[in-house]
Amino acid sequence: MASLESSILVGGVSVAVVGGGIGGLLSSIEIAKLGFNVIVYEEHGTVGLPKHCTGLISETTLSEIIRSSGINHKNIVKAKFNEYAVMLLTPNKLSMAFNIKFDEYVYLIDRVMIEQLIAQRAEDLGVNIKLKTIVSDVLVNRSGMYLIKYIVSRNVKSKMFTHVIIAEGAKRTLSSRLKLCRSIRNCYGIQALIKFSNQHYFSTPLIIVGSLSKHYFGWMVPVNDDELLVGIMDSNSPIKIYRSLTMFIKKYLREFVNSKDLEVGEYFGGLIPCDMKCILGVRNLCSVGDASSLIKPFTGGGIYVITRQVKALTEALRKYQDDVATMYGIKLIPLIKMLKRDLIVKKLIDAIGGYSIIVRFLSNFIDTLKVKNYDDMLSSLLRGFSIST
Ligand SMILES: Cc1cc2nc3c(=O)[nH]c(=O)nc-3n(C[C@H](O)[C@H](O)[C@H](O)COP(=O)(O)OP(=O)(O)OC[C@H]3O[C@@H](n4cnc5c(N)ncnc54)[C@H](O)[C@@H]3O)c2cc1C
Repeated sequence: MASLESSILVGGVSVAVVGGGIGGLLSSIEIAKLGFNVIVYEEHGTVGLPKHCTGLISETTLSEIIRSSGINHKNIVKAKFNEYAVMLLTPNKLSMAFNIKFDEYVYLIDRVMIEQLIAQRAEDLGVNIKLKTIVSDVLVNRSGMYLIKYIVSRNVKSKMFTHVIIAEGAKRTLSSRLKLCRSIRNCYGIQALIKFSNQHYFSTPLIIVGSLSKHYFGWMVPVNDDELLVGIMDSNSPIKIYRSLTMFIKKYLREFVNSKDLEVGEYFGGLIPCDMKCILGVRNLCSVGDASSLIKPFTGGGIYVITRQVKALTEALRKYQDDVATMYGIKLIPLIKMLKRDLIVKKLIDAIGGYSIIVRFLSNFIDTLKVKNYDDMLSSLLRGFSIST
């Protein structure tokens, strides 16, 4: 009897995932593992492109992605670091403030490759990934079923589903229309890949605070011996961020690395939610990833949050197919509390003048900050950071 009931339920559940980014794809894998039918709609022609993300994640997050997708870490890890150097940029000088040392490694992953491998794995599990397909609307009928309207090759089509996962990323067009987001405020992150004709000497990522970015920071991440990713995140307009980045590369980077032999490769980047004003869903319509506006407020990192959301969503969907959103939200209460706490602290930091004030202050008496948990920096700083001078 029990098995008949569950097979009826399995047969009756069909899930539409809007967006084939890391959030949508990881969700699709876990939902397919439950035995449900899943279709992922992705507007672009290739999974993983256009690229936008740096790809720095904690060991815990990497392990969760590997556990969930079964992909091999050798194919996706480009570098690993156990410390960052925090730098202060004043109008004429880039100077060292202090180091941050992590208990666990932080991994630089290949964001394009990881999405393509996850997509492959999803297809192996029976997920139908429809590329070049834009979801234009989601409508709910009286019996609680969802009608997905999508555009493919200029034709408008539609299909019914029992459940919908909105994983459309930070732009949140559908999330707003579906009233999951009250308002939307995005910041921007823009970066450039810098290629050196000789070996550069950077072995750890640099986080740069000060005049480069009023509310966030810049970064320089060694990808390998002759490539660096240099980027800036801020709440300014993308054109202003692009100009700051170009200026930084011209004025400081060439001097700092003491090399004229560098070539600025492609620029890329994208939106980063800066508000946290969305809800996680209603009944059997849920949002995941940047579409839900949940990111780590200090850094803009979203991948850790996604791994936590996918786990919660899958557990909710396994047991509560009539009102997934409520159980999904309940399971995420501890994470949301942590992110909201961080957002309040981030606003306080902004109110006193941004990260540069804090960094300047701390640099007067510390050389190294020890951080136990990359994904919950505030707790580990408050609870257990040790200061060595
Ligand atoms: C410059 C930059 C650097 C970053 N660095 C880091 C980092 O180091 N570490 C970290 O953890 N996070 C980082 N992030 C954040 C991280 O990239 C995001 O949190 C993550 O990509 C969100 O994944 P997602 O699946 O929610 O959305 P996305 O990756 O944006 O995927 C959404 C997908 O949905 C598709 N889509 C949207 N609307 C529709 C529609 N209507 N129909 C069909 N398809 C649609 C889009 O084409 C896209 O492919 C960075 C972000 C930026 C911009």
